[in-house]
Amino acid sequence: MFRAIWITGLVVWLAAPWQPVGAFADAPRPRSILILDQSEARGPNEENLHRFLREKYRDRPVGVVIAIGAATLDLALRWRGELWPETPIVFATFDKGDLSRLKLPPGVTGGIVRMRLQDTIEAARAVVPGLDTIFLVGDPWDRQVIFHNWKGEINSVAAGLNVVELVGLKMQELRERVAILTDRSAIIYSAIYSDGEGNFYPPATALALMAERANRPIIVAAETFLSPGGIGGFVLLPTVVGSAIARLALRILNGEPSPSAPTQLTDAIKPIFNWPQMQKWHVSESSLPPGSEIRFREPTFWQKYRWQSIVVLATILVQTALITILLQERRRRRYAEVEARSRMSELAHMNRRATAGEMSASIAHELNQPLGAILTNTETAESMLRSATPNLGEVKEILADIRRDDQRASEVIRRLRSLVKLKPFETRIIDLNDTVREVFQFLSVQASTRSVTLDLEEGPKILQVKGDPIQLQQVILNLVVNSMDAMASQPNGRVVTGRTELCNGTSAKISISDSGHGIPSEQLARVFDPFFTTKEQGMGIGLSIARTIVQADGGRIWAENQTGGGAIFRLSIPLAKA
Ligand code: ADP
Repeated sequence: MFRAIWITGLVVWLAAPWQPVGAFADAPRPRSILILDQSEARGPNEENLHRFLREKYRDRPVGVVIAIGAATLDLALRWRGELWPETPIVFATFDKGDLSRLKLPPGVTGGIVRMRLQDTIEAARAVVPGLDTIFLVGDPWDRQVIFHNWKGEINSVAAGLNVVELVGLKMQELRERVAILTDRSAIIYSAIYSDGEGNFYPPATALALMAERANRPIIVAAETFLSPGGIGGFVLLPTVVGSAIARLALRILNGEPSPSAPTQLTDAIKPIFNWPQMQKWHVSESSLPPGSEIRFREPTFWQKYRWQSIVVLATILVQTALITILLQERRRRRYAEVEARSRMSELAHMNRRATAGEMSASIAHELNQPLGAILTNTETAESMLRSATPNLGEVKEILADIRRDDQRASEVIRRLRSLVKLKPFETRIIDLNDTVREVFQFLSVQASTRSVTLDLEEGPKILQVKGDPIQLQQVILNLVVNSMDAMASQPNGRVVTGRTELCNGTSAKISISDSGHGIPSEQLARVFDPFFTTKEQGMGIGLSIARTIVQADGGRIWAENQTGGGAIFRLSIPLAKA
């Protein structure tokens, strides 16, 4: 029966120097281990293998022989007397039954892993509710190494289930067969090393080929069968077996006596399941046997990036809060700006009314002139009409004069109205040349009554800025009136000069200069302060209003003294963008 088992030999020499000792126990052994492993029921014949091992290890002492699988153990025991006299043997087998057939002499020990079909069927029931059929797929039982004991267990543990053995089929047939299995069934895969045509397959590859086509979940009993397509089960963990056996072998090498009874390697079997396959066959975690481990579970996005997500979320929250606060702040500031502007409009209006009041005498004078002319012209026309042959051509000319004088009077009233009217703040594009010119015209009568010459030097370019026209007029008006005030005590040569120019192509500049007393240098910085005045009747708000208006239009205003005497006020306002 064991003749055809494939057995491979591997010798491991350990690093420490070996000390040859006659007895197999109680003393350190040569530091070398021969590992004999069996996998499948094919391989070199027993005689060849025996000769090979005898030749190869003739002069190489072996400290411990490790035999994996019952067939290997059988050979090792039979050859021990000749090839490795008194050398300890450490084995790993997969069924107690194997051992009962073999007589274990002293110095032979190992571990037993119990691979039970019952466990695998329990796993199948967990995976398929209402399981009624199991399809056993693998090599024929007599060629099975690890699972050959299952054959004897079928009748007792699979009672109540239909058991269909799909063994010895060609791979193609098997793939077709497993694609049309009945509903409440599961495939139980032991291992295929060669198919019905004698093609050799690594058992994981054979499983993968079958899994590609299978229409039912595949229960497996080895950890290495999970990733090729097994859904899981009570699986054998080779690393647990390997390390238990290796530890035992090392202890013996180090001179410890071999334990007489083999160890049960219960840790070597564990219920482990494959998450992607569970998803594929809609198997919930709660239906798995207690203590099951789940492999290949993709962590959720939250599990994978928990900390990163928390940091990003926190950042977004903090940012949102900051943006909200900033927006509120902005709204509040806007509101405050609007409030300030309307307060300024009101104040500016008061300032204009005060100016209008101050100018009432000259305005009355300005109105008187056209009204007087109208009266004289009317009287002249009446007397002409009383004659027998009135010269109608002349009467016509007189009427045209009357019309012109009337228009002049209306214009004076219109300007006065625009000055004293409370208008809401508005911005639009205006030409500063027009603004300055209008103010100079408006003040012309007052200037002549105060013996002041108004001199305007307009720049050649159009100076378009964005601002409130009435308020900008008021700025110029305040400056010119201040200049006239500053020259009041001057006996003659009272001149106010206005100049407009373009500066760097980006801003408009206006200057209003006079030949008055100038500003004491310590007051230069204070003249724009609210309520700063040096005049007896002064309110001290004209320049402060002027500065507020200019700054609201994005410009600035400042005062200087001229070298030849008198003050000069300059202001610059950015040009409106085309
Ligand atoms: P008010 O004219 O009511 O005094 P303003 O704010 O217009 O208020 O002016 C503030 C002060 O600035 C004036 O009292 C005066 O001392 C000074 N000032 C303004 N313009 C001139 C100027 N052209 N020459 C000399 N001093 C001036």
